Amino acid sequence: DAIIELKGVERHYVQGSRKLTILNNADFSLKRGEMVALVAPSGAGKSTLLHTAGLLEKPDAGDVLLAGRACGRLSDDERTAIRRNDIGFVYQFHHLLPEFSALENIMMPQLVRGLSVAEAQGRAAQLLDYMKIGKRAHHRPSELSGGEQQRVAIARAVANAPLVLLADEPTGNLDPVTASYVFEALEALVRQSGLSALIATHNHELAGRMDRRVTLAEGKVVTL
Ligand code: ADP
Ligand code: ADP
Repeated sequence: DAIIELKGVERHYVQGSRKLTILNNADFSLKRGEMVALVAPSGAGKSTLLHTAGLLEKPDAGDVLLAGRACGRLSDDERTAIRRNDIGFVYQFHHLLPEFSALENIMMPQLVRGLSVAEAQGRAAQLLDYMKIGKRAHHRPSELSGGEQQRVAIARAVANAPLVLLADEPTGNLDPVTASYVFEALEALVRQSGLSALIATHNHELAGRMDRRVTLAEGKVVTL
């Protein structure tokens, strides 16, 4: 019952005359409704793993299965289409569009997908309420606190009801107290919607609140 599965995934980078192996015949499986922490030192390959799982980068070998469908080696266009519908991303820095309000930022992916303005607006407003920032709907990102910006970024990532949420240090730029509150909201959203999530974090307290912790060792995903 895996939502995302990596099977024998290889990822290499060439740096000058050296070949760096980041993922080496890596296997990983994220179950439906599961929230897993990815904990590993900088440079271990967390972003590489998330980008490969999220179909942003192609594996050099092996494949990525999304709800049982082999997707990792599809064309760029096909992977982009799947990404838009089925995968939500959150980064350490929010990457919200500065000219648009919180509400509009959350509407955007839905409009790209072809939903009506009314539908997108309704869903965006609901997500802002879930994230406990309903009152901030009409503020631009620069008018929001760091914690509020990340709440909007999380709401935007799940706006199209993806199968899976992938997050790369989503609270890495926040002080510990704010990080804890933002994570609480993220967790409530994931649990409420039955979403599955793989979340890279350096925060051991937050990692401890997830269902399972994994790390990267010699290019393999290992359960801690
Ligand atoms: P993490 O997210 O755990 O910090 P990354 O996946 O970003 O790790 O990087 C893993 C290793 O791969 C690092 O040593 C990094 O320098 C290297 N790397 C990442 N992306 C590239 C790239 N595009 N070209 C060459 N090396 C890269
Ligand atoms: P920031 O701390 O950057 O302003 P947060 O995302 O942590 O942003 O705060 C947004 C909302 O979360 C607050 O308006 C409040 O409802 C709730 N919250 C945050 N911190 C606390 C706290 N210490 N106690 C109670 N509620 C809090």
